[in-house]
Amino acid sequence: MSSFPTEKMNFVITPRVKGPVMLPKPRADLEPNTLEFERLPLVKPTGFREYDARWLFPEEINLMGLNAVGLGMAKVFESRNVPKRIIVGHDYRWYSSAVKQALINGLIGGGFEVHDIGLALSPMAYFAQFDREVEGVAMVTASHNDNGWCGIKMGLSRPLTFGPDEMSQLKNIVLEGDYEIKNGGSYIFVPDMAERYIKSLTDRPQLKNPLRVVAACGNGTAGAFAPQVLEAVGCKVIPLNTELDHSFPNHNPNPEDLAMLHALADKVKETGADVGLAFDGDGDRCGVVDNLGNEIYADTVGVMLARDISSRFENAKFVVDVKSTGLFLTDPVLKANGATTDYWKTGHSYIKRYSYENKALVGFEKSGHFFFNPPLGYGYDDGIVAALAVCDMLDRNLDKSMADLRNALPKTWQSPTMSPKCADEEKYDVVDKIIAHYKSQFETGAKIAGQKIVELITVNGVRIVLEDGTWGLIRASSNKPELVIVVESPTSEENRNAIFKDIDMQLARHPRVGAFNQKI
Ligand SMILES: [Zn+2]
Repeated sequence: MSSFPTEKMNFVITPRVKGPVMLPKPRADLEPNTLEFERLPLVKPTGFREYDARWLFPEEINLMGLNAVGLGMAKVFESRNVPKRIIVGHDYRWYSSAVKQALINGLIGGGFEVHDIGLALSPMAYFAQFDREVEGVAMVTASHNDNGWCGIKMGLSRPLTFGPDEMSQLKNIVLEGDYEIKNGGSYIFVPDMAERYIKSLTDRPQLKNPLRVVAACGNGTAGAFAPQVLEAVGCKVIPLNTELDHSFPNHNPNPEDLAMLHALADKVKETGADVGLAFDGDGDRCGVVDNLGNEIYADTVGVMLARDISSRFENAKFVVDVKSTGLFLTDPVLKANGATTDYWKTGHSYIKRYSYENKALVGFEKSGHFFFNPPLGYGYDDGIVAALAVCDMLDRNLDKSMADLRNALPKTWQSPTMSPKCADEEKYDVVDKIIAHYKSQFETGAKIAGQKIVELITVNGVRIVLEDGTWGLIRASSNKPELVIVVESPTSEENRNAIFKDIDMQLARHPRVGAFNQKI
């Protein structure tokens, strides 16, 4: 028997202080282990990036600073008339849970109904928005970053995440301390989201053939969920660094990191597996290694999946970013299947939004974020959904290995990403002048490598496409004082080199463009 006077347990607290009760405006100049650091919020402005937030914790943001971010988010939702309901989860790092608790304080203080799903992958948090019909998401994760980083991926309209608009609004509100404490906030603990997410992915037919799959997780959060999903659909999983260990004793959970790729390739070769899959720290990306241990770049994986998907869905529409291979336009199988592809701005939030708004079946971003829209997915990036698409493709091609499917693609001659230096204040202007030059070349019918320009894609810098599908891209880097140059030809190395030579000549006319990091 409880000795609590239960009849007195329901009571209403009347605020003792009327009027504004404000968290002070954050400072950017506080140092850990000082008196002020313990008394005031610290938020460095550099943490607000184009599509999400990343800070070194606690050097660039303290717990009170995270409180301020939560309060700021309330104002962003209010200004856009979005109900203040939000899913909150955290990744597997020693401080992520604390960071999340501080953020939750701010969210509740700002009047949010907070649905806390606990330890999660980013796609699990996005799934929870649909499953619980909640508008917002704030996923505490630094993805594949080194230890010491914390971050938040936010959204207010499923399946989309914040873009530059929402991010700069949030930044201004937080840095100005332009937030208010509101009544009505509440907390809901959700104990079973992982089970519900896993069920949603595994409630489907089994693979016909038990694939042998290496699942590499780099000791990150995906280790707790991805192998389980793959097993449940009928894979024989060979685990690689799937034990959770937030010291990342082997390498960072980053499929673009050579250490992770090499470890995966070695394991595939050692075990004779059918395919190797590498999940990043928050599970929204999946890198692929074929059965011979060769890495397949994300845009090539995209073409392979597009072939498979377009054979099942008539006139399938795809979206890829402008850095991706031209095979999406020139591949004869995609053409025969009636597939069409739009090239759009590099950046995962751009590709996600554009794919969703234009009802593309899948959006492929070269960094490995893939967006499967209904009926294949909900429209957000989920590395496990991408992995299942690879497994299904192999299952539909039982007579072919992953390497066979890769080698069935037409050969192309592609350059690596080449980056000449160009100051941040100059780079957009230089790119504009280069665009103007190629526009006039296009209009006058001038030739490059003996060919006319058939298309200029100017969504993000300029992608010059020639008659045979040879193309070159010139754009300003979004985060470094550099330009980004990529060229590719489906016909010959000479044509690839010829378009690069033309671009290089144009760049040489601008003294503000400096040395290349590498050249073909
Ligand atoms: Zn990620």
